[in-house]
Amino acid sequence: MNNKKALQMILFVLLSAVSIYLVASFLGIIAVGTSVSYSKAIQMIDEKSNNITKVTVSDRIVSITIDSIRYITVVPNAEEFIEDIMEKTKDNKNIDISFYRPVKIYSKVILLVLFIFVIKFWGKVFKFFKKANNTDKNSSISDLYNDFKSTIGFNDFSEKIKEHVVENVEVSFEDVAGLETAKEILKDIAKGILDAEKYEEYGAKLPSGILLEGASGTGKTLLAKALAGEVNVPFIQYSATEMMNKWFGDGEENIRKLFDYAKEISPCIIFFDEIDSIATSRKENVQSCQKTLVNQLLVSLDGFTPRDGVIFIAATNFIESLDTAFKRPGRLDKIVHIDLPNAEEREAILMVHAKNKKLASDINIKELACNTSGLSGAELANILNEATLMQLKSNQEFITALDINEAHRTVLFGTKSNKKMEAKDKYLSAIHELGHAFTSQDTIKEIAIIPRGSMGGYTWHNHPEYESYLTAKKIQKDLICFLGGTVAERLILDDISTGAQNDMERAWKIAYDYVSKYGMSEEIGPISINSMECISEVTKEAILKETKKMIDSAFEEATKIIRDKKELIKYVAEKLMNKEILYGDEFYEIISKKSI
Ligand code: ADP
Ligand code: ZN
Repeated sequence: MNNKKALQMILFVLLSAVSIYLVASFLGIIAVGTSVSYSKAIQMIDEKSNNITKVTVSDRIVSITIDSIRYITVVPNAEEFIEDIMEKTKDNKNIDISFYRPVKIYSKVILLVLFIFVIKFWGKVFKFFKKANNTDKNSSISDLYNDFKSTIGFNDFSEKIKEHVVENVEVSFEDVAGLETAKEILKDIAKGILDAEKYEEYGAKLPSGILLEGASGTGKTLLAKALAGEVNVPFIQYSATEMMNKWFGDGEENIRKLFDYAKEISPCIIFFDEIDSIATSRKENVQSCQKTLVNQLLVSLDGFTPRDGVIFIAATNFIESLDTAFKRPGRLDKIVHIDLPNAEEREAILMVHAKNKKLASDINIKELACNTSGLSGAELANILNEATLMQLKSNQEFITALDINEAHRTVLFGTKSNKKMEAKDKYLSAIHELGHAFTSQDTIKEIAIIPRGSMGGYTWHNHPEYESYLTAKKIQKDLICFLGGTVAERLILDDISTGAQNDMERAWKIAYDYVSKYGMSEEIGPISINSMECISEVTKEAILKETKKMIDSAFEEATKIIRDKKELIKYVAEKLMNKEILYGDEFYEIISKKSI
């Protein structure tokens, strides 16, 4: 804690103590004693005027000690009361009368302010305890202390914003490969906002916010940041998940301050990543603090004009779960779709990331780009990064083609594990993977029973070039392949393993989407439902029934294929057991020879 904060803390404690004392004495709480009515007090004074030892008058609150017992009362007029009691006790020599001047009106105002301050403080402390109850049980004392400080307002949020601001962004559009259309759209809007007056003069309407939408790792963050570098403005970056976790209770205020800050330092870019994580449809069962966060965000966006010079960009991987209120005109009304890169773009991305790396001459970036269909920019960057780690580990001057091959598999299937597999597990893995291979609609690139990550093996399909659209037929065929692994285990080993859980999850997800999201099921018809919350029980049940029917039918289809190929699978499994890895051409050669 720095000195400024320590001083603030001490002042705060002192001020609270003083204010509590003042407020308490104002309310008469400090004058502890038996409270009696005014008439009863007068009666006691008349009866026992000689036994009174002490009288304290503070404002209209009077404490009277009679026979060592303290009584408290409230008098209609303090001055008249003092005159009266002095008259009545003039024979009492032991009496001690103290009189405090009535509290003036301005003091009352100060007291009231202090009172509000104290109530607010305890409100915040209460909020902190409520929050502490909801947070992770394992959070450390220092986490809690920091949380406490920020809850009671010692972490100045305006200071904190600065940690999220990059003043001079060094990334530019040159560092973003491909995405030419998106770059152009962003640049045009940015230009408009930076020169809003001129645009307005010509009657041009600019969007308040831009929504970048596309799969994870496709370069949305990079693109927004590069725009800041390109138009040379500060970049403020926030992840919505972080807001949800850290701004509990203070979300509204923080969003307001964030937008105010952005206006203050404008022109600038605010970038909200994973916006769907807070801005999911409010109809769904979301926490109330999330709702207030969303509402404030909407209000802040409404209060925005291009003249403010703030470019608001949000990104999402799940546009369908985004609250539709965000997409209304005047909010995130410019939606830019970012696709997975095609072969040419992949090559460009690999080139960008290979720039500062030492690659051996036998590495063919073009070939790698062709072999990586379906991968995102982040995954491609990761392949080169993994390869560099291997180069450094083995102290080589250059990254070799072998490093790239291994890095490619690491990114796709996980890091190779040194765990020794028992022969029984290896056989199970071989049968499972061959089950996938024999039910695959794509050609096979590689089948391995080498453990990687949490998997005992993998089947690498040669995916055709990334297609923009999935089709119903393709999904049906994929389903058969997802289930092929477990079906092979069932038919050949007469048992099933838990290793198929992941396959099963993927199969259910895609079958469920087929029915409910893409409206491809003949039985249910053309529907598209984002949330199970807003549909009737009957429809819900019908969707689940249809999903199960799809899975069952794929299961049956996979069973037919595997039953036919049972002996062949067992034969190939023996070969796989020996070699641990079969490349596509070896696999097809074994099959064709055996078939002859
Ligand atoms: P997203 O925000 O879409 O999840 P990111 O922008 O965070 O993706 O991308 C992660 C990383 O992947 C980037 O920092 C960059 O290294 C790499 N990357 C992704 N797309 C591209 C691209 N088009 N050109 C260059 N690098 C890219
Ligand atoms: Zn599997």
